[in-house]
Amino acid sequence: MRSDYCGTLRAEHIDQEVTLCGWVDRRRDHGGVIFIDLRDREGIVQVVFDPDAGDHFHLADRVRGEYVLQVTGKVRARDAATVNPNMATGEVEVYGTALLILNEAETTPFPLDSHASVGEDVRLKYRYLDLRRHDMQAGLRFRSKVTSAVRNYLDGQGFLDIETPILTRATPEGARDYLVPSRTHENKFFALPQSPQLFKQLLMVSGFDRYYQIAKCFRDEDLRADRQPEFTQIDIEASFMSEEQIMGVTEDMIRQVFKQAKDVNLGEFPRMTYADAIAQYGSDKPDLRIPLTLVDVKDLMTEVDFKVFSGPAKDPKGRVTALKVPGGNDKLTRKQIDDYTKFVGIYGAKGLAYIKVNDKSDLEEGLQSPIVKFLPNDVRAALLERLQAENGDLIFFGADKAKVVTEALGALRCKLGADLDLYTQEWAPLWVVDFPMFEEDSDGEWNSLHHPFTAPSCTVEELEADPGQALSRAYDMVLNGTELGGGSIRIHNQAMQQAVFRVLGIEEDEQREKFGFLLDALKYGAPPHGGLAFGLDRLIMLMVGASSIRDVIAFPKTQSAACVMTDAPGGVDEQQLKELNIRLRKKEKPASES
Ligand code: ASP
Repeated sequence: MRSDYCGTLRAEHIDQEVTLCGWVDRRRDHGGVIFIDLRDREGIVQVVFDPDAGDHFHLADRVRGEYVLQVTGKVRARDAATVNPNMATGEVEVYGTALLILNEAETTPFPLDSHASVGEDVRLKYRYLDLRRHDMQAGLRFRSKVTSAVRNYLDGQGFLDIETPILTRATPEGARDYLVPSRTHENKFFALPQSPQLFKQLLMVSGFDRYYQIAKCFRDEDLRADRQPEFTQIDIEASFMSEEQIMGVTEDMIRQVFKQAKDVNLGEFPRMTYADAIAQYGSDKPDLRIPLTLVDVKDLMTEVDFKVFSGPAKDPKGRVTALKVPGGNDKLTRKQIDDYTKFVGIYGAKGLAYIKVNDKSDLEEGLQSPIVKFLPNDVRAALLERLQAENGDLIFFGADKAKVVTEALGALRCKLGADLDLYTQEWAPLWVVDFPMFEEDSDGEWNSLHHPFTAPSCTVEELEADPGQALSRAYDMVLNGTELGGGSIRIHNQAMQQAVFRVLGIEEDEQREKFGFLLDALKYGAPPHGGLAFGLDRLIMLMVGASSIRDVIAFPKTQSAACVMTDAPGGVDEQQLKELNIRLRKKEKPASES
C-alpha cells in the first residue's frame, strides 16, 4: 500500500513519486491550497494538494484530523522561505496527485499534540489514541531497542530463552498471589507467578546451564505508588557461576544496553554492604548522586538531658543519627524545615530536630536550635567535630526506633537532593551486597529479605542457631536510588532449603505440600546455581526519564490495579461461575456502616 514512511522523506527523495499511508495530524486550507500534515510512526511530512489534483483536491478538502489516508505524490523541495528546520522532513513536501480516504475519524476525546495536558484517566481510557502521541511512541520504541540489546547480549553469552508457565502454583516473592480458579479441578486454583524463580532453578537442575526470559510477573501488592500488578522482568539464571561471575555478566549487560540504546558509558559500579548502605544512606538502594550521608551520633546522646535523644540512644533497637546539609542555613527557609518535618512524619518520625551552625567557634551562642539547650558543651563540640560542620551548615537529626530513623532520614536525604538539586553526576550505579537472610516482623517472626531460595553464606547449624545474624549471598544492582535488579546464589541442597523453611515457620507438611517438587529436584543432582532479575519497566523509565512507570508500558493498570480501557477486572456470568463451582458473597460492610 505504500512506498515509504512519511517521516523518512528527505532531500534525497526529491523528484521521486511516493505513496504514503498515515493519519492526518493537521489540515490547513491556505486560500485554495490544502496542506495536510500526514503522520506515521516515523514522523510527519507535509502534503500539498492544489486544484490541479481535481477530485483528489476536493477529497483533500473533506479530510479531518486523524482520518487515515493513502496519498500518492511527488517529493519536491520546499521554497527556501517555508523550509522548517524543526521537522526532520522539513526540507521537502509531497505534491499530492492522488488521495484515498482509508478511514474516517470522529473528533478525538483529547488533542493528540503531545504538549496538551490531559488527565491520565482519559489517556488510559483511550490508550490506543494516547499511544499515537509522539512521546509515547518514542518511549515504546526505546523499550523495544533495549529488549533487543538485552537479547543480543544474552544470546551472545550462550543464554537460552526458555518460557515458563503462567498458570502455576505460588512462587513466593513477598506479595499476594493472583489466583485463577480451575474448572477441571474442582475448588482448586492456579496462582500466577510472582516471578519465574522456581522454574528457572529447575531449568538449572535440568542442565540448561544458562537461561533468560523477558517474563511477565504478577504481584497483588498493596497500592503503593508507581507499582504495576503485572510487570516485566529480564530474568536470568546460570549454573556453576560464582556471585562475582553473575554480577560481572549482568553488569556488562547493563553497560552494553546503556551504550547501545543511549550512548551512555556507565562508570564504576562500586560495591557496598547492606549494613553500610543503611548506616550511611538510610536505604538499601542508595542514591549515590547525592553527596549527603547519615552520621550516627547515638554514643554521644546517651547521657543528655533530652529524652527524645537519650531514649533511643539507650535502646539497643534505637538509632540517633544526623544529616548535615552544607550551607543549608541559607538554602532552607523555616517553612521548608516545617515541610520536611511533615515529610518525615510519613515515615513515622515524630519530629525533626535541627541545629543551624552560625559560628562553630562559639558553642554557647553560635548554634541556633530549639534543642541545643539540652546538649552540654562537650556534646556540642563532639557533634561538630564528628560531622565536620562548618559555619552556615544545617544539621538535621533523627532519633527513634532504628527502622523509623533509617527510613525517615534516608527519604529526607533523597528529598533534599532533589529539592536543592545536589546531584553530582547523572548516573550513579552500584551493587549492594551482604544482605541479611531474614528480617523480623512486628510479631517476632522471620521473613526472607529476598526470597526463601536465596543461599546463606553460613552453615545450616549457624543459620538455625542465629537467623538474625545470617547473611545471604544476594546482590542488588542499584541505579540513582532505584533497585534495577536483584538476585542471589541459590540453595542447591535439600537440607539447607529445609532449614530456611523451618526458620520461616514453614513446617514439614507445608513444605511438602507447597514445595515438594523443589525439595525432590534438589535431591537429584542440582548444580550450584544463581541468577538475577531486572525490572524492565523501571529500567526503561530511568533511561527515558519518565515520571511514571505507566508511561513506558503500552497498556498499564491504574493505581487501583484496574484497566479503565477494557474495564478489567469485570464481572462474569452465572454459568461461568457455576462451572467453576464458585458462589459470590456480598462483601460484609464494616460495623460502622451497617
Ligand atoms: N526472583 C527474584 C525476583 O523476582 C529475582 C532473582 O532472585 O533472580 O526478585
